[in-house]
Amino acid sequence: MTSTIPTVKLLINGEFIESKTTEWRDVVNPATQEVLARVPLATADELAAAVAAGKAAFKTWRKTPIGARARIFLKYQQLIRENMSEVAALLTAEQGKTLPDAEGDIFRGLEVVEHAANIGSLQMGEIANNVANGVDTYTLQQPIGVCAGITPFNFPAMIPLWMFPMAIACGNTFVLKPSEQDPMSTMRLVELAVEAGIPAGVLNVVHGAVDIVNGLCDHPDIKAISFVGSTRVGTHVYHRATATGKRAQCMMGAKNHVVVLPDAPKEQTLNALAGAGFGAAGQRCMASSVVVLVGEAKHWVDEIAERAKTLSVNAGHIAGTEIGPVISCAAKARIESLIEAGIAEGARLVLDGRNPVVKGYEQGNFVAPTLFAGVKPGMRIYDEEIFGPVLCVVEVDTLDEAIALVNANPNGNGTGIFTRSGGAARHFQEEIDVGQVGINVPIPVPVPLFSFTGSRGSKLGDLGPYGKQVVMFYTQTKTITSRWFDEDAVSTVNTTISMR
Ligand code: NAD
Repeated sequence: MTSTIPTVKLLINGEFIESKTTEWRDVVNPATQEVLARVPLATADELAAAVAAGKAAFKTWRKTPIGARARIFLKYQQLIRENMSEVAALLTAEQGKTLPDAEGDIFRGLEVVEHAANIGSLQMGEIANNVANGVDTYTLQQPIGVCAGITPFNFPAMIPLWMFPMAIACGNTFVLKPSEQDPMSTMRLVELAVEAGIPAGVLNVVHGAVDIVNGLCDHPDIKAISFVGSTRVGTHVYHRATATGKRAQCMMGAKNHVVVLPDAPKEQTLNALAGAGFGAAGQRCMASSVVVLVGEAKHWVDEIAERAKTLSVNAGHIAGTEIGPVISCAAKARIESLIEAGIAEGARLVLDGRNPVVKGYEQGNFVAPTLFAGVKPGMRIYDEEIFGPVLCVVEVDTLDEAIALVNANPNGNGTGIFTRSGGAARHFQEEIDVGQVGINVPIPVPVPLFSFTGSRGSKLGDLGPYGKQVVMFYTQTKTITSRWFDEDAVSTVNTTISMR
């Protein structure tokens, strides 16, 4: 009997095709355990075909005029807007996050698509006139070839859209490997990209896990790899890709600390902590997972718990839901085991969110907001990224103690400070060794006019996604030093005249 469950297609050379693999994974709705689709672990031949299609298409795509490239992204942003609610519903079904969060996920990617439509002014070179007598030096930012992207489950719209629009707008071709846990909304966005006019072979998609990722890292015709995901896998991808001479940029795991000074505006700060700590069920790489309460702010723990208790836990498509399920049964079990470790290691469990009753969705992977106080470095809940709705509170006496704590943590994705003191905020901004800093802003992800600039243990490679940095990542600088002789100009003119 043939299965009625839909299959997720590969995109190779402009065709959406069924994989010939024998290995498939289920894409599961995390609120219900319903199997929504089956995703293939593509074969080595399919990977080779995708890269070959990208290599062939590069020959013409690299010479396609800037305006023609840019106009595709103008059309693409319009198509994404028109299909926003349909893609958001799909995203919520396979990933679990609430519908407003799903729209936010798409919108943050859409902003990068809008930026890609400006590629003309972003990809310009530089010129110095008369660097020596009659000599000019100028640079060209030229595309590098076939690039690849490997993406995580937590932002199946935004993160693929961080990658292929900018790479392709710069004149490269692309092979995307979406998360095998929620590839359906990514594929809907890929269909819209094809509809917007991305030519055959310029964008290709293969699905899979370990073998396909290793195959991308090893393939001699791939020139650059963008990875977003966990620190363990990102470190492996970085070493394996760079060992074969590729450019690699890997954005990885986090433990983002928010420092709260006692002079912080209390209402706004408590709301921000609840939203940034528990929102999207804590499955954001920029989630504020550690709150550092300084001095008198140590007494705010119970009020954080009161806010957390009011958050509504339910299936993501139900109106009013604030916390949806976590991605899988395995993720739920992992989060619960870390909560047990926190208790065993002596942290104070202020709010226990294990096994909430969610009527009508009893099979869902729900974990309600969980709050620990008295957390210390050395405890697993502090040292590991929990990636669930579990907030850890660390209490310290001074701002400098807080800064030392943050700087001693190996991760450097994001951090923040809440205060009314400009002087304290500026001191924090200068002394903190983290790549993205929020001042009274809990999740300081830069808009695409800038780049994503996580640092230290949260990143390998020097250039970040989107913005100016990614134009440098996806292009090769060619520097031309040129001299034209005056006599040649005169003799060319004379020859032309005498030939008339
Ligand atoms: P993950 O590392 O498990 O998976 C990421 C990608 O790698 C997926 O496409 C997956 O198929 C592939 N993969 C998984 N195991 C592999 C292996 N052993 N070998 C080769 N490839 C493998 O990450 P995830 O669980 O999907 O995403 C959550 C993680 O991503 C968190 O750590 C989060 O902090 C991080 N993240 C970071 C950022 C950032 O910008 N720094 C953004 C989003 C998510």
